[in-house]
Amino acid sequence: MKHKSSLVLIIILLSPVFLFSQVDYKERAEKNIPYLIRDSILFSQVSIDDDAIRIYTSLSDRKNDKPEAIIYWDDVPYFIEKFEKNELEQALKVYKEKGDAALPYSAASLREKSKPTSLRGMRIALDPGHFAGNFKDAVLERKFIRMRGKDLGVKKDIEFYEADFTWKTAKILAKRLEAQGATVMITRKKGKGVEGLSYRKWLKKKFISSLKNDVATGTYRQDQMDWYLNKATEKDKYRYANKQDLIKRAEVINAFQPDLTIHIHYNASGKVIGKDGYYEPVSTNYAMAFTGGGFMKGELSSPMARLHFLRLLITTDLERSISFSDEVMKEHPKTVKVPLIKNKNNVRYLNKNSVYADAPGVYCRNLALTRMVMGPICFTESFLQDNANEAVLLSQKNYKEAGVKTSSRIKLVVDALETGIKEYVKN
Ligand SMILES: [Zn+2]
Repeated sequence: MKHKSSLVLIIILLSPVFLFSQVDYKERAEKNIPYLIRDSILFSQVSIDDDAIRIYTSLSDRKNDKPEAIIYWDDVPYFIEKFEKNELEQALKVYKEKGDAALPYSAASLREKSKPTSLRGMRIALDPGHFAGNFKDAVLERKFIRMRGKDLGVKKDIEFYEADFTWKTAKILAKRLEAQGATVMITRKKGKGVEGLSYRKWLKKKFISSLKNDVATGTYRQDQMDWYLNKATEKDKYRYANKQDLIKRAEVINAFQPDLTIHIHYNASGKVIGKDGYYEPVSTNYAMAFTGGGFMKGELSSPMARLHFLRLLITTDLERSISFSDEVMKEHPKTVKVPLIKNKNNVRYLNKNSVYADAPGVYCRNLALTRMVMGPICFTESFLQDNANEAVLLSQKNYKEAGVKTSSRIKLVVDALETGIKEYVKN
């Protein structure tokens, strides 16, 4: 008897049915879709049916029952595997070519990546937002704070910039996580973009070749390239450089295949007075975080955008991103002493461009990085830098860790992120 039952057990354990049909992909897709769509018009571009997910390029294709791709439930593991292995181009090729054919692929060969249960061995990508290395570049980047001392009740005028804080946050956090056995990657070096160059050097060395590549791949036309070379202002060029940098950030993070990614940012309410660029301090302060999702009208216009939409629909990425972001946000009132933004608020990009993730302070928003970076992510905005109290505290370099000198406010954010990761892993 004993032998017989253990044999049965072995057969059950080896059976693909036992191992792999546990996941109800349809149920998962139905759970994810409300967070993926901000503009209800997009519901016409996707349909979750009993046999498959159908994706349409346009409303008229939907009306004519001409899906671009039919992803049968048995096809889903193939795509999940491609995403997990960072084989996006192959996934895109199959997505574009499959039509209504079922993939000759055995679902049994997939074992979905599980959530880590300890920091040890965990792969964590830290992505410090922006890349200015000095105040002048930060002004160009429009990610700086400059305030009059008299508006703050302090003697001297103050100035600082976001890219400096985000990098220092990453540096300190990386050291702590590594000490606990995690493998950590920081996307950029201090004052440099992901390609290892300051903005000025990037312009000299990469601007033209990057434009040429865009023309070669059909991203831009020749006349658009000429416009960039001859007519674009400094601001236009910076915007272009930033866009290229975001694409590269997503590439290096995806190549690292992290268990978790944090995009580190600091917010500003952005009340600039006059042309001299001095900020008016505000009395409000709040923290928020973004995950993927919240697609708006026109944002499913390329096959790659639709493939990432499919990814967020069929993988655990969104669910894990929301639960991780929830843990990170929970720590903010406790540790950083900043309240979470209320769900009822007057922040335009939350009301117009995001879907509330049903977790306080967490919103699904289709930013370049929240769309392109695969796996669980949290895009943090830990406080408002132009809050009057915050600005004074941020201007003080009163804390040192990991060879970095900064404000003690940054230390508290690092504490919150570290605890958020640990809580996510624990729960
Ligand atoms: Zn930012």
